[in-house]
Amino acid sequence: MNGLFLAIPEYMNLITKRVKGAQDVLPADSYKWHFIENLLSNEAQLCGYKEIRTPVFEHTELFNRSVGETTDVVQKEMYTFDTKGGTSITLRPEGTAGAARAMLENAVYNEGLPIKTYYITSCYRYEKPQAGRYREFHQFGMEMYGSASPTADADLICTINAMFKRMGITNLKLKINSIGCPTCRQKYQQALKDYFSQFKDQLCDTCLTRLDRNPMRILDCKSSVCKKIADGAPVVLDYLCEECGNHFAKVKSLLDYMNVEYIVDPQIVRGLDYYTKTVFEFVSDCIGAQGTVCGGGRYDGLIEELGGQAMPALGFGLGLERLLSLLEKENIEIPKPDNCGVYFIGLGELGEKEAFRLTREVRNSGIYADCDVTGRSLKAQMKYADKIKARFTVVIGDDEVNSKKAIMKNMETGEKFDLDIDDKFFENFLITFLK
Ligand code: ATP
Ligand code: MG
Repeated sequence: MNGLFLAIPEYMNLITKRVKGAQDVLPADSYKWHFIENLLSNEAQLCGYKEIRTPVFEHTELFNRSVGETTDVVQKEMYTFDTKGGTSITLRPEGTAGAARAMLENAVYNEGLPIKTYYITSCYRYEKPQAGRYREFHQFGMEMYGSASPTADADLICTINAMFKRMGITNLKLKINSIGCPTCRQKYQQALKDYFSQFKDQLCDTCLTRLDRNPMRILDCKSSVCKKIADGAPVVLDYLCEECGNHFAKVKSLLDYMNVEYIVDPQIVRGLDYYTKTVFEFVSDCIGAQGTVCGGGRYDGLIEELGGQAMPALGFGLGLERLLSLLEKENIEIPKPDNCGVYFIGLGELGEKEAFRLTREVRNSGIYADCDVTGRSLKAQMKYADKIKARFTVVIGDDEVNSKKAIMKNMETGEKFDLDIDDKFFENFLITFLK
């Protein structure tokens, strides 16, 4: 992702560098992104999900309402600014809110429920940059609207599981929990309030404000003191109402039936307020402290919160930077793109023109071909063909144009082949190329 770090030579006087917490994807590495993006999109499409693309910014109230006023994301991490007209705008910190807003605003629900969408987006959070934590990062996510059934929860989890399996990843644990619905949560929040009130003198300032407004958020605090206190807190699973208990049991039984391994972890509450009932995380212990690659669950209240008619919903966000570092740690080889198939070296005015034409002809047939566009010498063109690891080279000068005969050279073996550049040029070329 970071490429090779090369010192900037002294004669270069760059006016600026990239913003802290952001990363460049360099040309030599972009194929890795294509690989995961294609694999994830294909799997989503196999399950009937269609891509949704939404703006990088939204009105701030969208995130305040959906992500939640007492979350770390809203309280500390959002990139919020006023437009010249005085409207408060926020760069999206996650993908769910914008997707839900777009689904509602464009009445996509009329297309028949459940609606299934997926997205690949950049996200922005003002966090302390470190390995696995950036200020601009990327998420792949899937969203389903219109099913309250636990089968939908299990289907989503099985789909993510299948994606990781298809990539060959083994070092990931699935942790699941249920955080109940507003009914069971009322009793639970009270129990948490009673518990955390004993530690008022030790909780961090943010958690003190959460104590009254949303004590469940304290369970998600990153401060080591709060974390330690949270370890002894009442467990949400003990407070589930009958419906939520049954829902969770059904999700687990479906996962069992599908042989998907999981750990029930009552500590998982997720960092965003909109979750209800099922929550889950896929966690790795080999990519450092930021081991959560994917997090998601059900959010049955979200659509109503955004002003729509009540509609159950669920989904997840998967961090692509963390996924790539997991692939690297697991030594999973990502197929490299093909090198240049053939490089035409043009000499003289006529040869250059013909090399230019032949390159286009090969490209038109879907094969990666290249030729010089800088006006370089024979030697320099050869060197460049070597550098881009062209499989074959063909030199085209006056003689070749006049005789319609050239030599095609395999750069790896040094073997040379006759190549007629007549009406049947491409067929002649293919015979050698496919050998
Ligand atoms: P964390 O506990 O790591 O802060 P989170 O609960 O804030 O994660 P979500 O909001 O659920 O994360 O986002 C889903 C996924 O997006 C995470 O599991 C992670 O893979 C990725 N992610 C979240 N924040 C960042 C970040 N700052 N940099 C890189 N990836 C991130
Ligand atoms: Mg976070």
